Amino acid sequence: MKYLILIGDGMADHAQTSIGGKTPLEAANKPDMDYIASRGTIGRSVNCPAPLAPGSDTAILSIFGCDPAKYYFGRAPLEAAAQGITVPPGALAFRCNMASISTEPEAFGLHTMKSHSAGGIDGAASRKLVTDLFANPEFASFAEKCGVSVYPTDSYRHICVCDKPLETDYGKLKFYPPHDNLGAALKDILPNDKILTALMEQSYTFLSRHPINLERETRGELPANCIWFWASGTSAKLPDFYERYGKRGSVISAVPLCHGIGILQGLKVISVPGATGELDTNYGGKAEAALKAFDEGDDFICLHVEAPDECTHNSDLPGKIQAIENIDSLVLAPLLDGFKTRGEDFRLLLISDHYTLSENGQHDATPVPYVIYSNNNEQISNIRDDGLPIRYTERDFSGAPLTEDGCKLIERLFKP
Ligand SMILES: [Zn+2]
Repeated sequence: MKYLILIGDGMADHAQTSIGGKTPLEAANKPDMDYIASRGTIGRSVNCPAPLAPGSDTAILSIFGCDPAKYYFGRAPLEAAAQGITVPPGALAFRCNMASISTEPEAFGLHTMKSHSAGGIDGAASRKLVTDLFANPEFASFAEKCGVSVYPTDSYRHICVCDKPLETDYGKLKFYPPHDNLGAALKDILPNDKILTALMEQSYTFLSRHPINLERETRGELPANCIWFWASGTSAKLPDFYERYGKRGSVISAVPLCHGIGILQGLKVISVPGATGELDTNYGGKAEAALKAFDEGDDFICLHVEAPDECTHNSDLPGKIQAIENIDSLVLAPLLDGFKTRGEDFRLLLISDHYTLSENGQHDATPVPYVIYSNNNEQISNIRDDGLPIRYTERDFSGAPLTEDGCKLIERLFKP
C-alpha cells in the first residue's frame, strides 16, 4: 500500500464577489478533486490550534502528526533545518525576507511595506543582494558585533541566526510577518528590538543603492531594498517519522519550511527542478518525482504545492484559481493515473493546510476541508442535499465531521 498527502497550500478561502460569490475552490474546474471528494472519507480539520498563529508552519506540523502545541519552536528553525543549519542551543534563528519598502526620502519608520518578496524576486538576484549586504564592511562589522549571521538561499527567504543577546529578551521579541502587513508604515511593524531594527534600517541604506535594485527599478520591478526579520525560534526537534509510523518516505515541495519539517523527522527531501513555490512551478515534475519515489521503494510521500497561497499574498485571485486547477490536472490526475496503471493499492489525503483569505492576504485558522481517498472507494458515497455528488469545496464540506486535533488525521491515513 502506498500513502500520499497532497497539500494545496492556502487553497481554502472565503466567497469572493468578483467571482459571483464563489470561493476559488468553487470557481476552479477541478474534476479529480471533486471525484475523490464524492467517494472518499471527508471531514474538516483544525490544523492551527489556538492560541498559535495560523500559518503553514503550525498547519503542516499538524498534518505530519506533530502537535504544534508541543513541537512548535518558531518557523525559522524548521526552515534552517532544510539548509542543514543546526541552530545552537540558546541561539535564535529568524527568517530574513528580501522585502520591498516604499522609497520616498523620509524617516525609516515612515516608509511602508510594499511586498514581502520584492515582487517575487528571482533567487540569484536575491542571493547576490543579501551576500553583498553582509559582505559590505560597514554592515558586516555591525552584524558581527550583534552576533547576527546570514544563510542565503535561492529565493527571497533567507535565514539569519543570532548567537548574542539582543536588547530585548528572545522570549519577549515581537515580529510582524511582512505578507500580513502589506501597506503598513514600518514604525508600526518593526520588531521591538533596537539592534534588529538598526540592522534593517542599515540594509535599506545599502540595498537601495545596489546596482541590481537600480536596474530593477528602471525595468519597473520592485527593488529588494530591505531585509525583513520575522518568524523567530530556537532549536527545533521533531519525533522520528519511521519510529512513529513504520513508513519510509519523502517530502516534495519548493519551500524550505516543508523540507525542514521533513528532514527533522528523518524523511528524505526530493528537489524537483523548476519548483518555484509560485504559480509557474513545475507541477508535472512533482507528480513524476512522487511516482518515481514510490517505484523506488518509498511507502509515503508528502507533496506540497505553495502556489495558491503565494497567489493570495500577491492579491492574484485568477492566479489562485489557476493554481488550484493546475494542482488538479497536473498533479492529482497523473498521480491517480499512475497508481491505476501500476495496479497499486494506495490511500491519499487531500488537504488545504489552512485558509488564506483573498480579502486581506492573511492566513486564517478556520477548520479546513480534507478527504481521505483510496482505490477501494469506487462508489459515490457523499451526496449533497440537492442530490448531487459533493465537491471539494468549503461549502459542500461545511457539515462534514470535525477533527479538533488535526495532528491525529495522519493516523487515519495509515490505519490498516
Ligand atoms: Zn500554508
